[in-house]
Amino acid sequence: MTSLEQVRQLSTIDQIQVAGLIFGSQQRAKEVKQFLADCEKIPEVQTNADFYNWNRKKQFLSKDKQGFSFMKMINHQVDDMEQYTGPMIYSATTNHYGVYLAMVVPAVKILGTDAQINAWLDDLIHIRKAACYAQTELGHGSDIQSLQTTATYDKQTQEFVINTPTIQAAKFWPGDLGILANWALVFAQLVVDGTNYGVQSFMVQIRDEQTHKPLRGIEVGDIGPKMGYQVKDNGFLKFDNVRIPKFNMLAKYISISPQGKVVKEGDPKISYASMMMMRKLLNTVYPKAAAISLTIALRYSYTRQQFTNDKGVENSVIEYQTQQHKLLPLLANLFAVVLSGNVTSKFVDLNFAEVQKGNFSHMKRMSFITLWNQSQLHSFCSELC
Ligand SMILES: Cc1cc2nc3c(=O)[nH]c(=O)nc-3n(C[C@H](O)[C@H](O)[C@H](O)COP(=O)(O)OP(=O)(O)OC[C@H]3O[C@@H](n4cnc5c(N)ncnc54)[C@H](O)[C@@H]3O)c2cc1C
Repeated sequence: MTSLEQVRQLSTIDQIQVAGLIFGSQQRAKEVKQFLADCEKIPEVQTNADFYNWNRKKQFLSKDKQGFSFMKMINHQVDDMEQYTGPMIYSATTNHYGVYLAMVVPAVKILGTDAQINAWLDDLIHIRKAACYAQTELGHGSDIQSLQTTATYDKQTQEFVINTPTIQAAKFWPGDLGILANWALVFAQLVVDGTNYGVQSFMVQIRDEQTHKPLRGIEVGDIGPKMGYQVKDNGFLKFDNVRIPKFNMLAKYISISPQGKVVKEGDPKISYASMMMMRKLLNTVYPKAAAISLTIALRYSYTRQQFTNDKGVENSVIEYQTQQHKLLPLLANLFAVVLSGNVTSKFVDLNFAEVQKGNFSHMKRMSFITLWNQSQLHSFCSELC
């Protein structure tokens, strides 16, 4: 019988240094390790051994508690996406509030004016307002410019009228929308005096903050369980000429006068800033979570022993070439994805630091690098499953 301890003793690799490389610094590696140790002491964040025997409602409620507890553990510090590493590694299934904190909060911070940030950010970070990211529609997902939801400016009342003109324009998929959210960051075509000014983002209240009932003109619900992702409340959402104040369009890079004069600033791609933040999350945090599967497979392969060799001793299954062929390229691939993810993460940070200073020149480059890296990650993950 080979124990893990025996296998580890064969290694000449300095684990602390490698951990520092993976997590960006030894300090960060220590923090993640500490986070995982702390999780062991908090029952709400642990996935119950009976989780998969429970019905969806019970699973959902336990994930909700877990999401809140994680937020408390990271002290609502959502500025740094790397903070999600611990929760992502620890939560074996879906993570409530993940999209919301990784996309809605950055969108408000990047695309909102100071007044909007003051009005919403604290409530969002502390989940007093739970907002989902409502971009994708039944008809269009990747092709964001062709979204059909409209936000028509009404000069008389200085409001936007949010409308779903066709069934294809219904929002479909947003995480946390089906059950949890009482607000939505809605992506819609801005129409002023019959002219279309492209897709902009709008903070729209969709459910009453006390009763949690849908507000007038809102049709909202859960799209139901999905294979392998059954707990998450991905939702659908339709608007029947819902009025929201002019203040609710995120307006750092676009302004509209009371009379309807529209002025845009910078690169219009900035509207998709939060998608870039999500890619950063996909590139930096998810590979580290995916590494758990590989770690389990490798540990198993070193300690699992089958078939005796010439000396009458059972081999560890990792000694068989076919097992090595399956696992070792994945290990190499994982290191490549993790290390390149750390680099692209720095590019994203640099890009947004420059955008804050009014320099939009990195935007095009960013989109290419992160998309490429994300596709590498996805193919890697699908091979693991
Ligand atoms: C679990 C889950 C959670 C989600 N959460 C959210 C959320 O919180 N908020 C939200 O707004 N949306 C969410 N979405 C929607 C998601 O963002 C979209 O599914 C995604 O943008 C892809 O859009 P689509 O489904 O229309 O795919 P399509 O655009 O129909 O793509 C289908 C296939 O065609 C390929 N393809 C499409 N266009 C091109 C092209 N030009 N060149 C090459 N290949 C192309 C795609 O890569 C894909 O393989 C979620 C989806 C899922 C599955």
